[in-house]
Amino acid sequence: MSRRDYYDVLGVARNASEQEIKSAYRKQALKFHPDRNPGDAVAEENFKQAAEAYSVLGDQEKRARYDQFGHAGVSGPSGGPGFNPDIFSDFSDILGDFFGFGGGSGGRRGGPIRGADLRYDLELSFEQSYTGAETTIQIPREEKCDTCQGSGAAPGSARETCPQCGGRGQLRYQQGFLVVARTCGQCRGTGQIIPKPCSTCRGIGRVTRDRRVTVKIPAGIADSQRLRLQGEGEHGAAGGPPGDLYVLVHVHAHQFFRREEDDLLVEVPVPFHTMALGGSFKLDTPGGAVDVHVSASSPNGTLVSFRGKGMPSVTGHGRGALHVRLIVDVPKTLTKDQRKLLDQFAKSVPPARIEPRAVDAEEDRPFFDKVKDLFG
Ligand SMILES: [Zn+2]
Ligand SMILES: [Zn+2]
Repeated sequence: MSRRDYYDVLGVARNASEQEIKSAYRKQALKFHPDRNPGDAVAEENFKQAAEAYSVLGDQEKRARYDQFGHAGVSGPSGGPGFNPDIFSDFSDILGDFFGFGGGSGGRRGGPIRGADLRYDLELSFEQSYTGAETTIQIPREEKCDTCQGSGAAPGSARETCPQCGGRGQLRYQQGFLVVARTCGQCRGTGQIIPKPCSTCRGIGRVTRDRRVTVKIPAGIADSQRLRLQGEGEHGAAGGPPGDLYVLVHVHAHQFFRREEDDLLVEVPVPFHTMALGGSFKLDTPGGAVDVHVSASSPNGTLVSFRGKGMPSVTGHGRGALHVRLIVDVPKTLTKDQRKLLDQFAKSVPPARIEPRAVDAEEDRPFFDKVKDLFG
C-alpha cells in the first residue's frame, strides 16, 4: 500500500517549524471536516490523512523517527498509526471547542482555583475620613460547610464514583469516525456523585455566612479610594488561595470644607468693617479651631492659609494646608443709628468716584488655581 508523505499531506516543507505544522493541520482539519462536507468521501479521506500526518509530525519524537525511517519508523505493531479516533482528544488545544472537542466544562478539572474577589462599598463621613476609623463590616461569604467538612456528603457517608461516566466526568460519543466528548450530566463533570447529600449545605460543601471583618481606615482616605484586604474574599476551591476583599470608600462631602488633594478650602463671609479695620476670628475646622487674622484694608477674596492644617496625607506623612478665603459681607439691614454712622463716614471721605474697570481675569479663575500659584 503506498502512502502519501506526511509533509505533502499537510503541505509543509520538511524543515517546517512546529508552529507551521500546527497551523497547516488546523487549516486542513477545518477545511475537510465532515461537518462541513457532509457525505463527501474525498474530504473525509483528506481529513483522516491530515489527522494521521499531524499525529506524527506534531510529535517531536515521532517526527524524528519518521524523518529517519519513513512510515516504517512510526508504525506500531498493528502496522501503522492508521487512524485512531481518540486522536481528537489530544487535539482539543488546536481545534478548541470548534467542533465540540473541548470536553464540556473544559479546562483542567480538579486544579486549584483561586477564590473570587469581593467588593464592599463603605460610606464614611468627612470627619471619619479626616481622623481615620476602624469599623466592622459584615460580608456574606461562602465558607466551608462544617457539617460535612466541605465534602458535601452527609456525615457517615461519602462521595462515590459517578456510575454514568465511571469517574471521568465526560461521556464520549462515537459520531461517524469521530469521538465527541461531552460533560457528564449526572455528575456535572466532577466524576463523583453524592448519594446522601449533607443536609446543611445540600451537597454543595459550602455555606453562605455573614462574616465580620474589621477594617482599619487610614486617616486622610479620599473618596473613591479602595482598600485591599488580602485573603478576605471567597475561599478558593481544591486548595486554591482565597480571593481578596476590596473596600471601596465613599466619603460624604463636608458642608463647608472642600478637599483638593490634601488641602482644604473654605470661604468665610467677614463683616465689611472687619475687612476695613482688621481683626481676627475663630474658625472651627475638621482639624480643630484656628485663629484667622484679618489685616486692615483686606480686599475681597483675600486668602489666609495655614500650613499643616489641611487633610492628613493617607500615606501617613504630613498634612495639606488649609486655605481660608475672606468674602466681604455687607449687612442686609441697618438700624437707624448704624445708618447715621455710615452717613458720617461717607461724608468724611472724598466723594466716591465710581468708574468701570476691565474685567479681572484673575478673579474668574477657580479658587484652587490661585491657591496653587501662591502655595505651589
Ligand atoms: Zn459522571
Ligand atoms: Zn455540608
